[in-house]
Amino acid sequence: MHLSRLPRLHFAHLPTPLEPLPRLSEVLGGPNLWIKRDDCTGLATGGNKTRKLEFLMADATQKGADSIITQGATQSNHARQTAAIAAKLGFNCHLLLEDRTGYADDAYQRNGNVLLDYLHGATISRYPAGTDMNAAMKELAQQLANEGQAPYIIPGGGSNEIGALGYVNAAMEMTAQANDQSLVIDHIVQATGSGGTQAGMVLGMAALQSGISITGMSVRAPRQQQEESVFNLAQRTARHMGLAAETVSRDQVVANADYVGEGYGLPTSLMIEAVQMMAQHEGILLDPVYTGKGFSGLIDLIRKGRFAKDDNVVFMHTGGIASLSGYPGIFGLQS
Ligand SMILES: *Cc1c(COP(=O)(O)O)cnc(C)c1O
Repeated sequence: MHLSRLPRLHFAHLPTPLEPLPRLSEVLGGPNLWIKRDDCTGLATGGNKTRKLEFLMADATQKGADSIITQGATQSNHARQTAAIAAKLGFNCHLLLEDRTGYADDAYQRNGNVLLDYLHGATISRYPAGTDMNAAMKELAQQLANEGQAPYIIPGGGSNEIGALGYVNAAMEMTAQANDQSLVIDHIVQATGSGGTQAGMVLGMAALQSGISITGMSVRAPRQQQEESVFNLAQRTARHMGLAAETVSRDQVVANADYVGEGYGLPTSLMIEAVQMMAQHEGILLDPVYTGKGFSGLIDLIRKGRFAKDDNVVFMHTGGIASLSGYPGIFGLQS
């Protein structure tokens, strides 16, 4: 496999650091915890969508597009990173934001990622929960095309066989960093939503035959559904790269949906504890929707004895900290 055969732009700050979490490892009594800092990818406070956008924006450029359309929840980190790179590369950007949580407060509706979307000059339209967002994007694309523009649709989360390439690359990057430090990674834990991050990571680790297992902590879908969609995307990504779909096997795709709580974007007490632990023992911020829930799952598995004391477990920090100011209330700060 040779990723440079595929079109890509370079704007992410890479490689992101792979760092130990010594104080948290001690507080939890092992395993040895590490963190891959994809919150430091550099695009308007960083996050995992930036790696995907390097490949997606290359495709949009090759296709002669002048406007980007994408969708997400009101506090979408994907929408914000897309708005930032569209601004930098001189594209118009249309963000279709779905109200998935029902939070009506001012901080959620206007602060956090929404403020940044606005500052980057994106056109924002809002939709009620349950809207067919893919249909809404197609409709807008048609309208823009009729007006003589050249729209390019990026799916929610940037999760298709092009965006997932960013995480095939991340798997290679992380493995090379571990090799350079003589670090043997036993397991990786990450949040999983639209699935492109996990699909790329699983495919990359499989293609390298690294033997490193990955657990995706679901933030929305039930386990079976999440695993099927990640597996399907990993296979499509393999074919897109010219690899056999069999490069990745079904049993390499593992999701855990035990830490979603009441639903996407809705807080759990373990998530709040996880965000506070990371902030107060390591000085690192997590977000309430993805990394907070993902890390809460890792903490719970550690407490249940899932890992050996001397295992090396890497938590993939996928970003999201720009959303924190959209949720002061759930962390107990009332106005
Ligand atoms: C989008 C996102 C995820 C999930 O990544 P997917 O590729 O959509 O599964 C995880 N963490 C953060 C902070 C995100 O914004």
